Amino acid sequence: MIKENSFLYYDGARHSATSDHYFDNIDPAKGKVIHTVQSASLDDVEVVVRSAAAGFQIWSAMSPTERGRILRKAADILRARNEEIARIEVEDTGKPLSEALSVDIHSGADALEYYGGIAASLHGEHYDLGGSFAYTRREPLGICVGIGAWNYPIQIACWKSAPALACGNSMIFKPAELSPRSAVLLAEIFTEAGLPNGVFNVAQGKADVGQMLTRHPEIQKISLTGEVGTGKKVMADAANTLKHVTLELGGKSPLIIFEDADLDEAVNGAMIANFYTQGEICSNGTRVYVAESVKTVFLEKLIAKTKLLKLGDPMEMSTQVGALISEGHMKKVLQYIEQGKKEARLIIGGNQRTDVEGCSKGYFVTPTIFEAKVDTANIVQEEIFGPVMTVLSFTEEKDVIERANNTVYGLAAGVFTRDLARAHRVVNQLEAGMCWINNYNLTPVEIPFGPYKQSGMGKENGLATLNAYSQLKTVYVEMDKIDSPF
Ligand code: NDP
Repeated sequence: MIKENSFLYYDGARHSATSDHYFDNIDPAKGKVIHTVQSASLDDVEVVVRSAAAGFQIWSAMSPTERGRILRKAADILRARNEEIARIEVEDTGKPLSEALSVDIHSGADALEYYGGIAASLHGEHYDLGGSFAYTRREPLGICVGIGAWNYPIQIACWKSAPALACGNSMIFKPAELSPRSAVLLAEIFTEAGLPNGVFNVAQGKADVGQMLTRHPEIQKISLTGEVGTGKKVMADAANTLKHVTLELGGKSPLIIFEDADLDEAVNGAMIANFYTQGEICSNGTRVYVAESVKTVFLEKLIAKTKLLKLGDPMEMSTQVGALISEGHMKKVLQYIEQGKKEARLIIGGNQRTDVEGCSKGYFVTPTIFEAKVDTANIVQEEIFGPVMTVLSFTEEKDVIERANNTVYGLAAGVFTRDLARAHRVVNQLEAGMCWINNYNLTPVEIPFGPYKQSGMGKENGLATLNAYSQLKTVYVEMDKIDSPF
């Protein structure tokens, strides 16, 4: 039976699940249940996999030009429905509407447009072997699974599905349980754009449903966005059937500000690197290393601008800092802040807000800045995933590079300096997959984005990602008699 509350999507339509497991879809700004979502059962997962297998047969046989046209049409529909989807994304995540309207849906549409445009240009190569020859075919993998985090739900669904579908794969997407809705809207949009049934499907549920997918023998690839611990489990589960794996995991990225930097720009960079989306961004530069000689001025400017940040109802266009994703997550962030107070100097913020008009039950935490003396403090070592920045100081370039790299993570890094030779010299030594010079957290679809070290493996966006969703078949063609040794 199809109900408004049906959140599974396969065979080109919404469906109810068959399990008796439910979870709440909560608006974190209001602390209010919006929907009760039914989790997929093992039987449902089987049905979804069958749908994806049938979709793959149709989609992989279609011409790449036609595939690209459908992806680009889906991008157009997404953009046309920007406001409606942005509001749903805000209800699910608590992020400011101004952000969702300008970034989340558009960056998803960018990916569909970009890979839709590339689909028809995917090709193999020809090798002249002096008479005989060989060629390669770039072929899809089969059924790919995308597992999403809750911070950028529709963007993550698009970043994974666009390259997967452009290469001719089908996809089953499992959104995070905390942000389940927009993936279903994306599925409906794909269907409206002409995507054959079964090519993009949505399975709802918690980690157990993710695990049913990562362990399923008919699935060829898993692309996860999530925590490092989850990445390790997913990789172990995927290893049984040797699936391809892309892991976009957590980070504790360094942002280095040299004495010659434009300090107003550096302050803007540090704020974008810590307070955008309430700090719930994987690549955030939460360890801000500032040259000792400019630290006092930098902090003055930073504090003055941070005081002006408007925390409030995420649905208000003037709000710059919204609600954290859940009560549990808010408590975790507040615990880190309490710990931080013992190991560093709290400069600003550091508390929960329960006085937000119309949102008194929401999960709000004020933008928080610590000044730490040592890198061994927990708030300097561990990913907090909230609006918590730690400022540290340094004097020597060599020393700050070593400190920046002294972490198991390697997702991102940033450098602010007017000396471009230094910028490149430093960036070349940073152990991070995504580095910014004189800016932070920009991820246009054309450039590959992805981690080093325990922040994961593989790329999203850019041409590089196509390798992760396709495989090369090599064909040798004999044009002469076999030169047989027998
Ligand atoms: P989690 O790792 O908790 O969850 C990510 C997804 O994996 C969710 O859909 C979750 O399901 C699912 N999952 C959990 N356990 C398993 C399992 N054993 N097998 C299969 N699937 C599983 O991350 P969060 O959702 O809390 O997101 C925050 C994290 O994501 C942060 O560490 C952040 O840095 C990282 N992140 C990384 C990005 C990157 O590009 N590198 C971008 C954005 C976020 P459910 O939650 O429904 O139970």
